[in-house]
Amino acid sequence: MAWWRIFSFVLAMGSGAIASVAAKPVPPVPVLVAKGVWTVSGGITPDRQPDGNSVIFDAPGGLIVFDTGRHVWHRNAILALAREEGKPIAAIINSHWHLDHVSGNPALRAAFPHLRVYASAAIDGALAGFLPDSVRQSEPYLNDPALPAATRDDIRADMATIANGPALRPDMTVIGSHSLRIAGRQLMVRLAANAATAGDVWLYDGKTRIVVTGDLVTLPAPFLDTACPEGWQRALARITATPFRTLIPGHGPPMTPPQFALYRHSFDAFIACVGSSEPKTVCAAAWTEQVRPLLGDDPVDGKRAQGMATYYVEMLRANRGRSKYCAAPAHH
Ligand SMILES: [Zn+2]
Repeated sequence: MAWWRIFSFVLAMGSGAIASVAAKPVPPVPVLVAKGVWTVSGGITPDRQPDGNSVIFDAPGGLIVFDTGRHVWHRNAILALAREEGKPIAAIINSHWHLDHVSGNPALRAAFPHLRVYASAAIDGALAGFLPDSVRQSEPYLNDPALPAATRDDIRADMATIANGPALRPDMTVIGSHSLRIAGRQLMVRLAANAATAGDVWLYDGKTRIVVTGDLVTLPAPFLDTACPEGWQRALARITATPFRTLIPGHGPPMTPPQFALYRHSFDAFIACVGSSEPKTVCAAAWTEQVRPLLGDDPVDGKRAQGMATYYVEMLRANRGRSKYCAAPAHH
């Protein structure tokens, strides 16, 4: 099942009465979360693929953009902020190569040709495997008359992004965990190998005590499509060890330390349940119940959590507890 299919199936479950209405995406507006730090939230629009959250840091040399979203309106919100602040975008940091986090890279670079992209090397493996695979798997669906027009638009846009895939690659490859001065601002940049993807980048800003996790933390469920759960659990332990005050996840609203502790506990319990003989719907229901305090007011979120978690139990069990894209050596 291709990357976008999961979301289509989950969104179809959630859209219900509004499914027949052409969903007009609401363009995100940057929100100031600390002095010199903004978020551009990635939403979930019915029939659409998601955008990851972006976090923008003000730095002496310009703006640092953590993740660039998928849709045109998401990247436009980032560009509008740069215009408003009268600052260039000096750097992009990509948490990982999933298209809801990197698709805006070329447009931002077109606007600011001098910017530097920091990311792990994992996109090279994806450009050779997962991404062309997903194009092949998606093609037949484009001719399906039941496919909503917005979903078709998104698939076409993703295909164009993948066709231009080398433009997503980093200028500066993150190969370990370091304190880096980027555009004159000191940031702790951390690499988690074999977690949500083969190489996930997250960062801690000591000045504001904000930690930005990319898809190591997502609601309504962890997106386990390319995951090595063991490495992911280790990364969550390292996040716990930072003295953060606010955590900005890859999807969903910011979290306090106790909220993240609940997320991590629920994640560990979910992975343990995957490894047990409990029915998949039982594991999914336990996840949904545990994270319910973290979900928004939208009652659809609980249904999405249940639907996604059920799917991921099955997907992980089909491949001995990890995604088939996990290349880490197995521990027994
Ligand atoms: Zn994502």
